[in-house]
Amino acid sequence: MPSDLVIVYHRQPYDEVEVDGQIEYRDNKSPNGIVPTLKSFFGKVDNAAWVAWKETEDTSNPQFDRVINIEDSFGKYTVYRLPLTGAQVKSFYHVTSKEAFWPILHGFKEKYNYDPVDWATFKEVNWAFAEAAAAEAAPGASVWVHDYNLWLVPGYLRQMRPDVRISFYHHTPFPAADMFNVLPWRAEIIGSLLSCDVVGFHIPRYASNFVSCVRSLEDVGAVPRVKVEPDMIAEGSALSDRTVPTEIRTEDRVVQLGVTPVGVDVEYIKSLAGSDKTAELAARFRSEIGDTRVLLSVGRTDYTKGGADQLLAFERLLERRPELRGTVRLLHVSVPANRAMTVYEPIQKELEEIAGRINGRFGSFTFQPVALISRAVPFEELVAWYQVADVAWITPLADGMNLVCKEYVAARNDGDGVLVLSEFAGAAVEMGAAVLTNPFSSRAMDFAIDLALDMPEDERRARMELLRASVDKRDTRHWAAEQLALLSPEDFGRKSAK
Ligand code: UDP
Repeated sequence: MPSDLVIVYHRQPYDEVEVDGQIEYRDNKSPNGIVPTLKSFFGKVDNAAWVAWKETEDTSNPQFDRVINIEDSFGKYTVYRLPLTGAQVKSFYHVTSKEAFWPILHGFKEKYNYDPVDWATFKEVNWAFAEAAAAEAAPGASVWVHDYNLWLVPGYLRQMRPDVRISFYHHTPFPAADMFNVLPWRAEIIGSLLSCDVVGFHIPRYASNFVSCVRSLEDVGAVPRVKVEPDMIAEGSALSDRTVPTEIRTEDRVVQLGVTPVGVDVEYIKSLAGSDKTAELAARFRSEIGDTRVLLSVGRTDYTKGGADQLLAFERLLERRPELRGTVRLLHVSVPANRAMTVYEPIQKELEEIAGRINGRFGSFTFQPVALISRAVPFEELVAWYQVADVAWITPLADGMNLVCKEYVAARNDGDGVLVLSEFAGAAVEMGAAVLTNPFSSRAMDFAIDLALDMPEDERRARMELLRASVDKRDTRHWAAEQLALLSPEDFGRKSAK
């Protein structure tokens, strides 16, 4: 049955498990990450579909089920599995998206790798995604496309299905023109995004950056003239992004710019945080850790996360303040990337080297100041660690939003704990009560960690109260309501009210 809402996201929305030779599609219960948040829309729209890739070496195999129907705790939905070969996945995802787009989106020009990009394959895969979405969408449906690896889908889909409402959401930062225009395919990408009805971002600055990219291409005649509302230049606000652009008018349509910071499932985290099981786990961790203070850092092993800079800041802390030696520990969780992505290997080595050096310099037979955890910690355990941690030290060099910092705050039902957060995380816009810091400056990093460790309890509690209010307000439900309004103000608004 054609669907009123088609979510296009590269990953499949379930775990595929083989049981006695049969494939079972298991609901992935993990609360973290964006997939469960997107799946919550299945309960809001009667007939929704999801388009994702499924790797297979024989893409024309007639036995391959492209369309399957799933029923799990999120409701009933259809999944269109687009068959892609390993070579296509490597080219469009691991190479073009992760080696060319990812560094530019996060402002790392020096990491940008143009040479191995096969643009024809990127276009071919995006075209195939657009065809799959076009096949699933009912007349006038809303198609919601996610993330930069599918940047060209809106333009293709608009050619195939002029009737559908297309919304595109960026889960990453969006860089300003001087960075974005490094991409040789910039005009094609911006042209595709301008064929959307809605282009979504986490924070106002990313929307302003997007407008700066459109303007810069307009200046060189690479995209047709547009009108921006409210016009930042006319309002004299080009020097600051206080005036948030809300729409771009092209010859063909009005492209609405949606600024909707994604939140975390506060209700779920609070229930987990308040459970006996978490209390027991946290008590166990505390007794194992002994009488030391805990700094907790959680992220992926990616150059954008600033892991090495943080470990160096910890090393400086122990150098600068000898009285803290043996009294503070850093638990540094750094989840390695998929092994197919070898670009991240040097970072892992660097983290191991610095952590090893710190332990060698400041550790003893019975005490290691750094625990470097190079694997994913189950979310239930993470919540217990959030409760144990005196300081959550979250200092990415660039991060579209960063959910870990919001999870830490949501888990602190005792009202205590300090959040040290990078200004370069999108979340910083909402979390002014955190100790905000600039991870590119050693001095700022040192100042922030000192402030966090020396903060009196009443100040910790006052800041945490403000942080909790902001995380509570903008949780996943709030985000979902905002998205539904943007996707189709008329239809889904009614359905979601059910
Ligand atoms: N996470 C986890 N176990 C780990 C490390 C991270 O479950 O060992 C989860 C974490 O709880 C969060 C997500 O992974 O929900 C990371 O999201 P974030 O936005 O902070 O970073 P991203 O990886 O999306 O850049």
